[in-house]
Amino acid sequence: MDHTELTDIYASLGISAPVLDFAASVEASLKERFAQIDARAEYNQLKVVKAMQDNRVSDIHFAATTGYGYNDLGRDTLEQVYASCFHAEAALVRPQLMSGTHALHIALSGNLRPGDELLSPVGKPYDTLEEVIGIRESVGSLKEYGISYRQVDLLPDGSFDYENIRRAVNEKTKLVTIQRSKGYATRPTLSVEQIGELIAFIKGIRPEILCMVDNCYGEFVETIEPTDVGADMIVGSLIKNPGGGLAPTGGYIAGRKDCVDRAAYRLSAPGLGKEVGASLGLNQSLYQGFFLAPTVVAGALKGAVFAANVYERLGFSVHPNGSEERHDIIQAVTFGIPEAVIAFCQGIQAAAPVDSYVTPEPWDMPGYDSPVIMAAGAFVQGSSIELSADAPIRPPYSVFFQGGLTWYHAKLGILKSLQYLCDAGIVKGF
Ligand SMILES: *Cc1c(COP(=O)(O)O)cnc(C)c1O
Repeated sequence: MDHTELTDIYASLGISAPVLDFAASVEASLKERFAQIDARAEYNQLKVVKAMQDNRVSDIHFAATTGYGYNDLGRDTLEQVYASCFHAEAALVRPQLMSGTHALHIALSGNLRPGDELLSPVGKPYDTLEEVIGIRESVGSLKEYGISYRQVDLLPDGSFDYENIRRAVNEKTKLVTIQRSKGYATRPTLSVEQIGELIAFIKGIRPEILCMVDNCYGEFVETIEPTDVGADMIVGSLIKNPGGGLAPTGGYIAGRKDCVDRAAYRLSAPGLGKEVGASLGLNQSLYQGFFLAPTVVAGALKGAVFAANVYERLGFSVHPNGSEERHDIIQAVTFGIPEAVIAFCQGIQAAAPVDSYVTPEPWDMPGYDSPVIMAAGAFVQGSSIELSADAPIRPPYSVFFQGGLTWYHAKLGILKSLQYLCDAGIVKGF
């Protein structure tokens, strides 16, 4: 294939030659970064294969079960694979865990009892957890069950406020929740090493305090996971990183056996625990998605690093910046004007394999205090390991985007967003 062939196919997808040339120069500057991402993906791929081999995965594990799901070998072995890969004693990996929020709720409510206190030493947790905990009044919250909550914010420079964490820990403190990814906040994402330091500090105060990590968007970004640095539980969503784009639904909890068991008794029923739950024919997608996850995460990371460098070079503020080390797959770009945020999201949508002809518009979503625009043309509804972007229409007019099942598709999405910004006259000089 020659250069013209590639230019032609990009042209047929609406990408102009100047945008393509600019992208090529940015990409050429990222060779070392991409090589580092590939090296981690190689390590993580081997970690997953080793876990599958050690647990003797076989095609009998792909068979469907129905009804109660007793003796679902495929389900039980998949949970062993997750446990082996994450160096945990046990795991709960289920389509019946409906989302990341649900998995986190099960991990928390399974391990906390009335009179216990929950502590977040890393500031305000992800939006949906506010109602789970009862920070915002909500029917069925942990607060309604007599579980109190305390929070210590990060210091202005993003580091842990050890002094106030020590003060916040008391005889009621049962569980500490640590969110790895910044989510849609502006604080930095935590590295696994930093999480390890925080866990060591907590255990130094009282070793029996349980440390849970919200691992959403973090899996396979590094070569170690929080379970390698002392976390008692890690929790995540299968329509993010570990589902590899193939899992159609689900969540996981991996960690200490007693913690995972308590979560299982909460998910099903006391006395039943992990013994029930039909896998309904989803096992193969969950295995295969986990197998692909390290490569898929690498593609998404390349997209995030590429976008940071493209928009940084054009003078916009990007978070994380173009050269920073990555600890999750989320990229934020601040445009300062609503038209730019809208054009960006419409460009992402126009690059999608599904629903590319749809034009996203801002709308008043329930639970948000300003209109929100969302771009997603995904095979799995709501999947954010697939290329997706969303932005609240309010100052400073930042867009958050993540995912991309392949690097080439993530690249097309970013080129398309830039093309839309050029066509709208917001980005000039092309
Ligand atoms: C996505 C996410 C959640 C919640 O996951 P859902 O699947 O959307 O319910 C929780 N915490 C973090 C950090 C997340 O990124």
